[in-house]
Amino acid sequence: MSIRRLVAATGLLALGAAALATAPQAADGPYVLPPLPYAANALEPAIDARTMEIHHGKHHAAYVANLNKAVAGLEVPVDVEVLIADLGGLPESVRTQVRNNGGGHANHVLFWTILAPEGRGGSPSAELAAAIDADLGGMAAMKEAVLKAGATRFGSGWAWVVVTPEGRLRVSSTPNQDSPLMGAPWVEVPGTPILGIDVWEHAYYLAYQNRRGEYLEKIWGILDWNEVSRRFAQARAAQAK
Ligand code: MN
Repeated sequence: MSIRRLVAATGLLALGAAALATAPQAADGPYVLPPLPYAANALEPAIDARTMEIHHGKHHAAYVANLNKAVAGLEVPVDVEVLIADLGGLPESVRTQVRNNGGGHANHVLFWTILAPEGRGGSPSAELAAAIDADLGGMAAMKEAVLKAGATRFGSGWAWVVVTPEGRLRVSSTPNQDSPLMGAPWVEVPGTPILGIDVWEHAYYLAYQNRRGEYLEKIWGILDWNEVSRRFAQARAAQAK
């Protein structure tokens, strides 16, 4: 499989030549760890380089490796988002492994792309801004809701902004590596995530220790609204079909 095809399989082709400059790791299975779309130190001071290196190169890499192990010998879709959207269609013997590691892979692919160096994240598109106003009470209320969802998630998990099947925006939270893409009965708020914030301790502990709220506040300042807007438009377009 060519590098271009491998990168396409992870849905990251849109990142273009910069992402292709670093070859993804050789995969022992259908799923591949995509390179970070920026240097490990690009998000400092919000996220330090060491945290990024371990988070991407060890944690995310382990989800990919364990996912490949779990699906060995099975016919599976190469798009991990398609895979985790049909957990019920998998043999029960691998379902939990795919839920945890497929979710972990998909969630981190999203996470890296919705972050950008400080000052480079733009602002929500007019369409997204209108939906945020209509469904979530505006930007300030959305921020408060997302940060609260992240801060109050007990243990490990994620805070999300999701486009529901009805086309509305909702803020939610999942435990562990569950993704809104998994749908019912796996998650409370099914839908297409357009923004996701990792609140596992591995995402912030080196720099913030137990101060999850401070990490969340800093993360809010490095969100890539261009990418969140693109994902919103894509989710709406998919629903219109
Ligand atoms: Mn993580």
